[in-house]
Amino acid sequence: MAQPFLNSIGGQWVPAASGRTFFNHNPANGEVIGEFPASGPEDVAAAVAAAEKARRAWRLTPAPKRAEIVYRAGEIVRERKEELARAMTREMGKILIETRGDVQEGIDMAYLAAGEGRRLYGVTTPSEMPNKWAMSVRVPVGIVGVITPWNFPFAIPSWKLMPALVAGNTAVFKPAGDTPEMARHFTKIFEAAGLPPGVLNLVFGSGSQVGTPIVAHPRVGALSFTGSTEVGLAINEVAGRLGKRVTLEMGGKNAIIVMDDADLALATEAVVWSAFGTTGQRCTACSRVLVHARVHDELAQRVAARAKTLRLGDGLDPATEMGPLVNASQVATVEKYVAIGRNEGALLAGGGRAGGAALERGHFYQPTVFADVKADARVAVEEIFGPVLAMVKVADLEEAVEVNNASEYGLSSSIFTRDVNRAFAAMRDLDTGIVYVNHGTTGAETHLPFGGTRGTGNGHREAGHTMLDPFTEWKSIYVDFSGHLQRAQIDNN
Ligand code: NDP
Repeated sequence: MAQPFLNSIGGQWVPAASGRTFFNHNPANGEVIGEFPASGPEDVAAAVAAAEKARRAWRLTPAPKRAEIVYRAGEIVRERKEELARAMTREMGKILIETRGDVQEGIDMAYLAAGEGRRLYGVTTPSEMPNKWAMSVRVPVGIVGVITPWNFPFAIPSWKLMPALVAGNTAVFKPAGDTPEMARHFTKIFEAAGLPPGVLNLVFGSGSQVGTPIVAHPRVGALSFTGSTEVGLAINEVAGRLGKRVTLEMGGKNAIIVMDDADLALATEAVVWSAFGTTGQRCTACSRVLVHARVHDELAQRVAARAKTLRLGDGLDPATEMGPLVNASQVATVEKYVAIGRNEGALLAGGGRAGGAALERGHFYQPTVFADVKADARVAVEEIFGPVLAMVKVADLEEAVEVNNASEYGLSSSIFTRDVNRAFAAMRDLDTGIVYVNHGTTGAETHLPFGGTRGTGNGHREAGHTMLDPFTEWKSIYVDFSGHLQRAQIDNN
């Protein structure tokens, strides 16, 4: 029997109004993890009503007190880190080292966002008039709709919901269908930390039945979405018509540039972990390497040799280096692109599903390397979101930068070189939201702004010193105290 789970609306744990449910599965072996409400627009309406009811009291709660609850949530996450990491591996497949990192981002974000409760800085400025005071303050937007993907099922909700709550918003949260359990843990932790009922409402269900009604609901003032470009742009269209504020973090096709003076051993390890960590399903994952022609063949051989040694298996096994893909549809996408890639480059490693008795019930796919791929080949241009790497020859740094910047996406990029001049030129010229030097395209620290250019984002950044921007508006306030002074003058006379 699968364990049945419920939505959280107005502080009550309730089933979908329709009574319908869906199951989620462990991608490593197909075991059922839980049965969750397959909610619909009526559940979203109830969640928004609960968020509306809680809004005034939460907005009037002093920001440092709101922040203390977020801090306490961070403390609970810290105490339960290992248990949460294991639950995440079981739910979406990435290996324990990676799920620990995901949970750690939640802890880091809690501490960082909690600090904002004692800042939330505004601005005072001189007025053009005598006896007038002028200032601007941040105010919450109201109710925020938060829609998240499955690949960072704790970190991404943390980046969004923690600053949104500290800023004084209430929220309706729809997690990905593949990772409802982590969202349930997230919400329970905030409940245990003392968050008042209705401030955070959790509604499980599909994109069309829950996501779309959140986007369209007139009382939801701001939307924060992370996921595919296709869905993000569709949300943007609806939200744009309704005049809503939208933060979008979308797809990627991240490149590592390797110059002919690079340390190839270092670059090999970085490429392998950037391409195959989280089974290639990280938004910052490297899926193309732009290699100087002089070292292309050697690097391709080294990367392929290392990829072949990666140990696949259940992420809960400490010996496992690469877990499964998250679901069957991701496997189908990878298979489609590998078939395309066979005509676009030289297959040096992988190219098929991973076999063996231990793997046959999971969504495992071999780490796959194509070399000598043209820069405009489909496997070098389109987001695959799986363990498939395309290696492209370039003549020099200028060409590498040009190829990098021609992508429709712009999340992260990296350069391996020992030449400080090349490194600085790349830092200046690579048109992505994140640039790494002599480091793979992995990892983001919560105190730096996170986000991408072009098709990856719409100009917003999450986390860092920008964390409050998506969830606050500025209010300008003028105080005219000349009336009081005039009265005082009259009294003195
Ligand atoms: P999807 O876009 O398929 O889904 C993201 C979320 O949107 C899920 O909760 C999904 O629900 C929901 N959704 C789906 N359709 C709609 C809709 N019509 N209206 C409202 N919500 C909807 O992305 P994935 O979950 O598959 O995540 C992978 C993608 O996310 C990749 O493209 C990756 O690059 C990107 N990503 C980007 C990051 C970044 O920071 N730039 C970080 C992480 C991932 P459901 O699950 O129920 O379908």
